Parts: sequence; structure tokens; C-alpha cells
Amino acid sequence: MSAPAVTVNTDFSFDNTYARDLEGLYVPWQAAEVPAPKLIKLNHALAEELGLDAKALDSAEGAQMFSGNQLPHGIKTIAQAYAGHQFGGFSPQLGDGRALLLGEVIDKNGKRRDIAFKGSGRTPFSRGGDGKAALGPVLREYIIGEAMHALGIPTTRALAAVTTGEFVRRERNLPGAVLTRVAASHIRVGTFQFVTARGDEVLLRKLADYVIARHYPELKDSDDPYWGLLRALCERQAALIARWMNVGFIHGVMNTDNMTLSGETIDYGPCAFMDHYNPATVFSSIDEQGRYAYMNQPPIANWNLARFAEALLPLLGEDQDQAVAQAMEILGGFQARYEHHWLQGMRLKLGLTREEDDDYALATDFLKTMEGQSVDFTQAFRRLADVAGGQGNLSEIGLHKLYADDAVLKAWLPRWRARIEAEAVEPAKRAQAMRAVNPIYVPRNHKVEEALDAAVALGNYAPFEQLLAVLQRPFEERAALAAYAEPAPASVSAGYQTFCGT
Ligand code: AMP
Ligand code: MG
Repeated sequence: MSAPAVTVNTDFSFDNTYARDLEGLYVPWQAAEVPAPKLIKLNHALAEELGLDAKALDSAEGAQMFSGNQLPHGIKTIAQAYAGHQFGGFSPQLGDGRALLLGEVIDKNGKRRDIAFKGSGRTPFSRGGDGKAALGPVLREYIIGEAMHALGIPTTRALAAVTTGEFVRRERNLPGAVLTRVAASHIRVGTFQFVTARGDEVLLRKLADYVIARHYPELKDSDDPYWGLLRALCERQAALIARWMNVGFIHGVMNTDNMTLSGETIDYGPCAFMDHYNPATVFSSIDEQGRYAYMNQPPIANWNLARFAEALLPLLGEDQDQAVAQAMEILGGFQARYEHHWLQGMRLKLGLTREEDDDYALATDFLKTMEGQSVDFTQAFRRLADVAGGQGNLSEIGLHKLYADDAVLKAWLPRWRARIEAEAVEPAKRAQAMRAVNPIYVPRNHKVEEALDAAVALGNYAPFEQLLAVLQRPFEERAALAAYAEPAPASVSAGYQTFCGT
């Protein structure tokens, strides 16, 4: 494709440190031309954060740009190489089969961010795939990524979504789309696995140094930067997974190629938020064994990190036996670090301001009150905030009403009350603090489906826009939006399944 230069956004200047420093980890490649690109959403706030001219980009030229049809002059798009364990099985070569990296921009805070397409056509890594993305999954990634961001959870983000004017073949023909994604970087555990599987220690060192410089600069001048990298990634992932667990997020496909070195959540495929509390919840249609079920996310992250340690091993010292033993010790500490972050989150969710020994039991026991009761996870914490802010039985009604049988809850509440009453915090203040960390609006499965259906079947983007607007302020209750706080009706939630969208 010979692409004429776009004139509107000349300040869209990219750096390419990844391409410059990491030869062997990508292939130069161009986006497939699409017939009729239409910009359906531009993330103005994010565009401004990136120092881009949002107004100029929100245009027909912007659509050409975000479809890959016409890129600003000088952009050299690349497909990144990576490997990965998918559902436990190792593939030495996966790579960007439907994605391209445009380059990096330095945002207004001085942070380097990747800009990439998803759904931009076949690449040398496409294997049997068509390299395309369907509109539904593109919008799902847009919605959930932005919701995660608003919840304060590290995540890649959506800058733009375009429809391409062509159909992509899935079980049926679906409108094609391209997502423009912004990430701290797209380097994954699988990127390291790719290099180590090829036995290229020189490139492995380059990659590790690159990651340290970009994501962990504080390690650069330490005595043992590669050990530091292993420890630091374990810590970031422990913190990230704890945040997921605190809001009931289920990623759905935690393959090692979907775990970033930056500590951002990436690849919103079959992900979804848990509605009624059940630790075994799994939504993804292909996750038949429940490998990536809600409760398995911490141990699976730990497993992925073990694969990372293996990939890093050639850099971890001459004596490999000793290195393995030391790595095992670090990995063995993951669960405790995860629990630490999880409990910090739960203390805030439960309105506890002090730390006490039995907080962990108090927190896990609250979850136990919900088990088998079809209690909505998100609502339970909001109702608990009502109890914290109110007086007497009246404030408790909402919480009790969530339970089919509230016997276990009744036994738990006095423990929690005794605990919070030992802290000198005004009830209204405590309730306010709890509402500031317990979202009232999360991407409800039926609302997400509704938005996607309207867009795909009718070209009606109003429900998508409305849902995005609601999720931008997830903690702030708004009277007119009660429907967005409700769990899916039983007809939707029973057997609800998500799909990878590939
Ligand atoms: P994912 O499940 O989205 O993390 O993707 C896993 C791997 O499959 C990656 O290498 C993707 O690039 C590749 N892939 C997913 N969908 C497609 C597609 N439609 N065409 C080509 N490659 C794909
Ligand atoms: Mg992926």
C-alpha cells in the first residue's frame, strides 16, 4: 500500500525506541487497506493527554488515519513478535497476528506510550487468522478498558475505534473495525519467552535492559537489575491482580502473552465483571476447565510469573541451580504480596482505617456471607456503605435484601460493627470514604451486550456512548442511572458466556 501523507496532524510525531533497540523482535509491516473507514469514537480526553490535536483527528482524515489507510508521513508500522503459554500449552511463536505498533509518543506527563492498531489485517504472525477484528469485540475492549481506567486500575486504553466498511467472517458476517490502543508498552511475558526459546541471550539482555529503562528505571543502577526486575514484576502483578479481585473483574484469558511487563491490564477479549459472588465464576466459552476462573487469577498470575522467571533465567547468574532456588523463593512470596494488596483494598472497601490482625478473616468472612446466596458483589459493598453511614436497622434493609438467606450475614455484621466502632470516624465520613472506593457502576454484562448489539445490528451507538459516560464516573451515584447499577436479569446472567472475538 502506498500511503499518501496525512496533512491534518503533523504534530503526530512518533518515536520508535522499540524498533531501534530490539531488532529481531518485530517485522516491519503495513496495515491492510480498508474500503470505507468511519470514525465511530475518538477518546478526546486521552488524545489531549497524549498531546494530540483531538479536534483535527475527529474527522474523515482521522478515520483514514485510525484505519491505517493513511498514516502521517514517516510512520513505520511493525508487527511485534512474542511467544506464550495459552491455556498452559507453549507456542514458541504467536506475535501480532492482527495488530501493528505505530510507535511511541511522550504524553503530557512525560510518559512514553505505545500507540497500536488492533484489527489492521494479516501479518507474518497471523497463522490461520484473518488479521481482522469485528466491531463487537472492539467496542467491548473500548468499554471495559475505559471502565478499568476510571476505576483506577492500570490498563491499556482505547484512543479510537473505526469501522472499516467491510465485513469480517466469523460464525456469521460482522462489521469489521479497528481499535487504536494506547499502552505503557506492549511487551509481554511472552516477549521474553520468544527470545529465550530461540536461545538468543544477547537479545534477551537487550530486552531486559530495555524493559528496565522504560518501566523500572529505578533498577538501572542497582547491583542486580535482573533479579530486581523479577521481584518488581511480581510486585506489580500482585498489586494489579488484587485490584481485579477487589472489583470482581475476570480477565478470562490470562495467557502469558496477555501479561504485560508494565503491569497494565491488556487484551480485553472474553473478560467480564462478576455479578453475583461466586469464586468459581468463569464467563469465557473456551475456558472449559475454568483455568481462568475468578478465584484462579492470583495462582495463575503466579504461574505466569514462574514462566517469566524461566525465560529470564539465562540472565540470573552462572549457577543455574542456585538461580532456580532463588527464583522459587521470590515466586513463593507472590501469594503473600498479593494478599497484602488485596487486604489493603478490602480494608478500604469495608471502611476500616486501622490495620488489625484479624482484618483478613473479617474480609474473607464477608465474602463467605455471599457464597451461594446470589448476592451481587458490587452492590453488596455499596449497601454496606449505607449501613456504615446510617443508624439502626433501617440502614441495613438494603443489604439484607440482597441475600436469599442472611443468616451468615447476621452473624458477621456485629463483628464488623464492633471493629469500625473502635475507630473514631464519623459514620457519614466513613460511608463517603467507602463509596469512593466501591463502584456503583461497573460494566454490567447485559448493558455491555445491549450496547454492542445496538451498534452491530443497527449502527446505533447511543447505548455505547451512554454506557461509556456512566462508567467514566463509577463511584458517583446518579439518580437517573439506577438501571446501570442493577445486575443482569436472570435470563441474561444464567449461563452468560463471552467469546474471544478472534
Ligand atoms: P489473543 O487471544 O487476542 O490474545 O490472541 C492470541 C494470538 O492470536 C495473538 O498472536 C493474536 O495476534 C492472534 N490472533 C487473534 N485473533 C487473530 C486474527 N483474527 N487474525 C490473526 N491473528 C489473530
Ligand atoms: Mg493477546
